[in-house]
Amino acid sequence: MTTHVLHRNSLIQPPRAVSGEGIYITDENGKRYLDACGGAAVSCLGHSDPEVRAAIIEQVGKLAYAHSGFFSSDPMEELADDLIAHAPAGMERVYFVSGGSEAIEASLKLARQYFLEIGEPDREFVIARRQSYHGNTLGALSVGGNMWRRRQFEPLLINASHVSPCFAYRDQKAGETAEDYGLRVANELEEAILQLGTGRVAAFVAEPVVGATSGAVAAVPGYFKRIREICDRYGVLLILDEVMCGMGRTGTLHAIEQEGISGDLQAIAKGLGAGYQPIGAVLVSDKINKAIASGTGFFQHGHTYQGHATACAAALATQRTIRKRDLLKNVVTQGDNLQKALVGRFGNHPYVGDVRGRGLFRGVEFVADRVTREPFDPSRKIHAKIKKTAFENGLMCYPMGGTIDGQRGDHVLFAPPYIVTEGQIGDIVDLFSKTVDQVFAAEGLI
Ligand code: PMP
Repeated sequence: MTTHVLHRNSLIQPPRAVSGEGIYITDENGKRYLDACGGAAVSCLGHSDPEVRAAIIEQVGKLAYAHSGFFSSDPMEELADDLIAHAPAGMERVYFVSGGSEAIEASLKLARQYFLEIGEPDREFVIARRQSYHGNTLGALSVGGNMWRRRQFEPLLINASHVSPCFAYRDQKAGETAEDYGLRVANELEEAILQLGTGRVAAFVAEPVVGATSGAVAAVPGYFKRIREICDRYGVLLILDEVMCGMGRTGTLHAIEQEGISGDLQAIAKGLGAGYQPIGAVLVSDKINKAIASGTGFFQHGHTYQGHATACAAALATQRTIRKRDLLKNVVTQGDNLQKALVGRFGNHPYVGDVRGRGLFRGVEFVADRVTREPFDPSRKIHAKIKKTAFENGLMCYPMGGTIDGQRGDHVLFAPPYIVTEGQIGDIVDLFSKTVDQVFAAEGLI
């Protein structure tokens, strides 16, 4: 069949998805797939939720879209009120965009403009972490530390520096406590600030629980507290990327709540609109809002679809539905069940090194050797084979891997919808187990 769509991988024609119900998607041939990763941790309410559907239809019937250069709208105002009412301490305003990369771009520009407003124009540098992903637009790609995604676009990227991630399974030394390890890697930020020059760094960007590049890796206790102290000490803004781990995914509305600190800017997206409409946002702290409002009064940025009325109506219905059905409780309960079931099945597997994560955000890391934690040779493409075989088995899971270019190890990420049941958790683990057996048998490893 010919296609005029420029698919991401032009060698593969993906099946056409035609319908969705709960945690399942059905394709053109009637084959059903269990969506155990919410696409890319997006579909947190599952597919075809009646309340969100009704809210979208109602809004389209009234007014689908009005340009934000002329108008605000009820859904935009109500969604902002709702988000601020439940936001981490200090957040005061919401800047709406259409997705995660845009939320990071807007955060970087808000940080830069903040320093211009307060008379510190020398703050030009951004620091982020290696083995990270913050989006594919050029600014977001610049701060991301995923070399595979960056490599061919390097000449177009803006200047950003990278420090170590907080990834205990890979980097905590023998004999080092988790606390000492957390302080050691957090202190790399201070060293980088001193090296670039105090008064030269605008922001540090980090994901509270790392998703796509590492497979649900939470920082050790105390790491983010130390990061916050360093940022405060040197006047550096802390940009939290909760595009993937936020909006309930880890069991609290915001992943950073579990670290006891707040950022100055916080990017949110995927779970905000649950995939019913494309939407993202930046939570903006009081100090940044005040600096711009009492300075030029105009944030020098903007997109045609920001604050899209239908997208805001969908996100508002999503957030209200999550609260009304108390779904974060289910995220915690089923997240624990998923962890236990994965550990039960793979705890002694010769090629599974780690099972980790929080809430319904769980990662399984594959290794060639459980004792040395040596990753598989990237040419084996274990993660890609698992994704392909799982999909053939009717299971969607999110893979990433290879040791090339700063990426270390193969892993698979699970991020099922918050409505998942205990029985469905069992189905996920059964299908995954069958897949893992097939892949390692085909590799001649078992
Ligand atoms: N930040 C993180 C942490 C992400 O996981 C992603 C998407 N996977 C993005 C930013 C970019 O979001 P989008 O694809 O919506 O632009």
